[in-house]
Amino acid sequence: MSPFHILPKRRAKNGTPDSPRDDAQSQAASVSPLSIPGAVGSISSHQSRIRSAGRSTLDPIHEPSSQTASAEGNGAPAQSASVSHSASSVSGTTHHESGDDDHVNEAIDEAAQELRARSPAAKPGSKLGKKIGALVGIGQTANGLVSSLETDSIQNAVNGFFESVPVLVRALDEIAKIHPFISVALLAFKAVYTFEMKRSENDSKVIALYVEMKDMMTVLLELKSIKDPSAVDVEGIAVEGRMQGLIKQIAEDIKRCANVCDVWSKMRSLAKVLKAPFWESNFVDLVNLFAQRRADLQFAMSMHAMRGIDGVSDQLKGISRLMEERTNPEQIIYFIQTYVSQEDQHLYKQVTLRGGAAAVLHDQCALEELTAEGAREPSGEHDGASDLRSLQADLRDPAEAANENLPSFERKLEILQRQIVEDTEKIMVRESDRVIESVTSGPHDRILDKDIYTIWKEMGWRGSVKTRHFVLALRDFYHDRVEESKRKEAASDVAYTSDADAWSLEFISMKWLQSISEAFDDDASGFVTIAEANDFTSSRPTNWSLPRWIAYWAVGWQNTATIYKEKIYKIVDSMFALKPCIHPQNRQMVERYLNHTWEQLMFSTMPLEPLTLLDKVQRRFGDYVVSEETRLKRNLETIRYRVDDLTTLSIVTGPGRIEKYLFPLLYLMLQRDLQILKICRHHIVDERELWDCGDNILTVVNACKTRKQSLGETFSHQGWIPQEQFKSKYCRLFELTDDWKEGRKRLYDAKLAHIHYDESSGTAGEEKSDLSALNHPLKEPYRPEVEQYIAKQYVETDEDRMAQSPIKEILGTWYSLLSKRNPPEWPMGPMFTVEIHVAKRGPYELEAVGSMPDSMRGITFTLGGNAETTAHGETYYTLHLSSTFQAYIVELRGKMSKSPTLIEGVWGGVGKEATHTEVGPFVLTRMTPEVLSCRPAPWKFEQNRIRALWRFALSATRQQVLRSTYSWKFFKQRRTARLRYVEFILRERFGPRLSAEDEVEYQGLIRSLSPADARFYASLAEHQLLQTACVHHGYECDNCSCQIRGSRMVCMTCATRSLDTLDLCSDPRCLASTVTPTQRSDLASPHLPTHDIFQLRKTMYMRERQQYDAQVREALRRSHATLDELDAPDSGPNTSSMVNRKLRCLGCEGGVKWPCWYCVECDDDVFLCVACDIKGGITKNQHKETHTLVRCQARMREEPQLSIEQRMEALETRFGTMHDSLYHRLDGLEAQLSRIQELLESAVSRPMLGPGPRSASHPWT
Ligand SMILES: [Zn+2]
Ligand SMILES: [Zn+2]
Ligand SMILES: [Zn+2]
Ligand SMILES: [Zn+2]
Repeated sequence: MSPFHILPKRRAKNGTPDSPRDDAQSQAASVSPLSIPGAVGSISSHQSRIRSAGRSTLDPIHEPSSQTASAEGNGAPAQSASVSHSASSVSGTTHHESGDDDHVNEAIDEAAQELRARSPAAKPGSKLGKKIGALVGIGQTANGLVSSLETDSIQNAVNGFFESVPVLVRALDEIAKIHPFISVALLAFKAVYTFEMKRSENDSKVIALYVEMKDMMTVLLELKSIKDPSAVDVEGIAVEGRMQGLIKQIAEDIKRCANVCDVWSKMRSLAKVLKAPFWESNFVDLVNLFAQRRADLQFAMSMHAMRGIDGVSDQLKGISRLMEERTNPEQIIYFIQTYVSQEDQHLYKQVTLRGGAAAVLHDQCALEELTAEGAREPSGEHDGASDLRSLQADLRDPAEAANENLPSFERKLEILQRQIVEDTEKIMVRESDRVIESVTSGPHDRILDKDIYTIWKEMGWRGSVKTRHFVLALRDFYHDRVEESKRKEAASDVAYTSDADAWSLEFISMKWLQSISEAFDDDASGFVTIAEANDFTSSRPTNWSLPRWIAYWAVGWQNTATIYKEKIYKIVDSMFALKPCIHPQNRQMVERYLNHTWEQLMFSTMPLEPLTLLDKVQRRFGDYVVSEETRLKRNLETIRYRVDDLTTLSIVTGPGRIEKYLFPLLYLMLQRDLQILKICRHHIVDERELWDCGDNILTVVNACKTRKQSLGETFSHQGWIPQEQFKSKYCRLFELTDDWKEGRKRLYDAKLAHIHYDESSGTAGEEKSDLSALNHPLKEPYRPEVEQYIAKQYVETDEDRMAQSPIKEILGTWYSLLSKRNPPEWPMGPMFTVEIHVAKRGPYELEAVGSMPDSMRGITFTLGGNAETTAHGETYYTLHLSSTFQAYIVELRGKMSKSPTLIEGVWGGVGKEATHTEVGPFVLTRMTPEVLSCRPAPWKFEQNRIRALWRFALSATRQQVLRSTYSWKFFKQRRTARLRYVEFILRERFGPRLSAEDEVEYQGLIRSLSPADARFYASLAEHQLLQTACVHHGYECDNCSCQIRGSRMVCMTCATRSLDTLDLCSDPRCLASTVTPTQRSDLASPHLPTHDIFQLRKTMYMRERQQYDAQVREALRRSHATLDELDAPDSGPNTSSMVNRKLRCLGCEGGVKWPCWYCVECDDDVFLCVACDIKGGITKNQHKETHTLVRCQARMREEPQLSIEQRMEALETRFGTMHDSLYHRLDGLEAQLSRIQELLESAVSRPMLGPGPRSASHPWT
């Protein structure tokens, strides 16, 4: 059954197919595809991708649903009421006023006639005859008849939505001039419409809903018949007074509706399919609401019209015309409930295959499968975010999701509304603008600017002209004009008056032809259209002349971008400089931000060709640059710097290509990000904060990628190679946008400024950080959860007290261990505890909350369950644990043993159709944790019950004795256990890998921990990780492939093709190992233990690599110099076991033994022996444990120090020589072959001298 039919709204009869979708699909072929009509003006740029979907002609008559039949739900009856109301009140009142009531009645009759005649449904024999009756108020009640004809008309209305709105809006703008009070709703409507326009892909259900919204707005056109806004109606109220409140309400409704649609539109397809019924009921409510508002409006206006002052006849004609265009809300609801887009069909089938939406939502496996399926489809703006967790975010309750979205949506809408208002105010005539009356003699008549008009007309161009021709003509025009005026001045002998724009002519020249062309030809088609020319001229500041504007695009933009680029790099450098003084608990977040955004940021800004201008020229553009920055800043502030997708981005920037705004936009974003990083020094900031910042920048980068892609396509169409074009066009800006390979190489070669790290962490006197930049509240520092040890008492509830057997037996506190049978693991994870109560929802259900102690930050689960007693009197309990973090359910099913303190059974995950995948046995007991921890594995009991019990008793007693003495030994044991356990938890996540013995020890520790211990220790590990340990995110050991934590060892000798470093963890086994090119495919030759390496106890990212590289090499040179100085003949350095007694280790002060470590950062020579270093570094004197160290090894021979470039070169020559030697060998082979051939030939031509073997043994060389 379709998830869409869960809604019991509409009951179909006469054999409607169960799934209208299948039906629609089968019918799709027979319905001609509805083409999107050609758009007008600015709309033409919009690429609405509404797909037409055929609708069944088998569709039967539907009964009106109970809700929509009420006057509240449906526009039709209310409308009929208003019309009939008008009819009666006309007869009731007008004869007092005018006396020509006959005339009025006539008009109404006429209108009714017309309605009957013109309604498309009123065809002879149509079942809809009744409906017409209802519409004109002949006494029929609502009758939501839906015919196939009408559903097609909805599809038409949906397809034509974007084209029809501008016409309506223009008309309403006229109305608003007479009745300004409607502006509130009109503005909201325009903003919502613009928002939807900016979306790259429109959802048909949303558009259907907007069609109803549009229909409601259409009713306002009727106000045109009320020409006098101050006229009062029968009750003595002016039209504004009657409608004002309603209009305000409508504005709110429009915004609320658009917000719901926004959330829906942003959801991934899978979530839409799964949650459709819930959202559709929301949509249906909205359709009904708009229908209701429409009726309310009509009623309010009809009250007024009844005065009969402004021509009732006119008005009724209007109504009848509108009636025709208008759609029935019933049809829209039907459309919303049944429409499935082409691309969702597949997903929908997949969901049906897995038992429908409800089943899938509770099935982790199915969700994962479907998510993986979804990830394969191109997912537009949801790049890379298609993992299960973000899907689960999408699966929220519609109301909750809409509430969450509302603040940010309102902010975006606010920007749009502001833009609309500003645009209206800006429609002023520039001095050079022409007044366009009508197109009479040619296309040039549509051109706004006088200069361009003259050129266009003189050249006799049609709708468009080759960009090159256009710009050249433009240049000639301005240069000629100057010559002309100079001539005139010379002739008339008038004193030379300098032209204010003379300076700009220098830039309207061949040299800048390319940049000017790009500015006019927005889509890079090679042609300038009239619309493009008009857009260009009218987008300039009002007080700017056209030559000045052209000069800006010739050189001003590039110059401005160059200045911004410098500023951006300064900001980024100061961000990196803050690294050492970031609060430890923000460190991971900050480094992730820097690491993720820096490269992308560089790729999209670095290639820009710089341009500097003379100060006096630069100043000419200043006011525009400042106003643009102010405008962008205000927009960014309005949405609180959250640019979550390309739609939002285009709202912030306004129309036009991304490169226009790229640099100031990034500059403003980074400026705020830096502010947040500064806060990160002293406060603990919510993780989402910088995550969002990084996401903002990636959204901008994505916009560049999209732009590059579309430009590339245009270039290809014109027969050019895109890659070549990008090398000369757009100031080379897009050269690297999506070419990270080349990008990284360039970054590597770029001479980046050194970062001067800010070591003055948290200095006093620092001005109080301004927290206003934050969007989320600050967080409390993370502390280990000591409160785990506070004894908890089980508190009986009222329900618990009244519990009956067998529920009564299981109430109270339990401890549990789970095991895995294959391969055997006892226990699987630390012990956990639950306090079981009777559920609130019924006396036969159980409930509890608990947490898995080993999960980081103690992710909680909820428990539900029940009991059943078999015919043999055995009681089985079934418990379901569902994680609050993931949609994962674990089922425990066990039997109460003879003593009521123990439940044994099996547990597993619950999968598809409640299938149980058994993992192993479990034990649930009321014994103390200390006793339970001594229990042998369940399979020991199966093998030999008596022996297992005996063992159990023995070890439990031993444990009890040890504990009761409170001996030093007991506490020491606990302490060691704690330290080891914390270490193991960390090593499990971030290397070095656990050895086999470690694994055994870890297992033993896990079993011995009480839930409180386990939880507390896990929190200690988390704390340690946050507080002290340095995690090198994204760097794995190339030998054991663990995620590196603490010390990262980087090889200085190995060069890789990918430019990634060769990294090892601190495990001595890894340091002593060889890494072959099979392990690292980008390695030219194996990494050997003799290579020079350095050790990092802080993160190092691509940005910092050059700097580190230089420092480390310098240090290595220094250490060698020191060693050479000390190398007396008695201490030959050629054996690794040699001890240099003249050098002391900073830690143990013993003689230094090879290999040892040498500090890169200290000014003095600091050596550390390996034994002292492996304990985690030393802070002593000037030296800090985070200092970078370089390894000194006994030197076999002096190897020349090579720079990266030289190393790359060496690598390439190696390839070269390999290549060459291969050819040499091939040459040799060929020579050999030809000699064989010669020999054979001579052997054949020679007269046979003897038998074969002789010639065969003939030496060939
Ligand atoms: Zn390793
Ligand atoms: Zn190496
Ligand atoms: Zn030492
Ligand atoms: Zn040092």
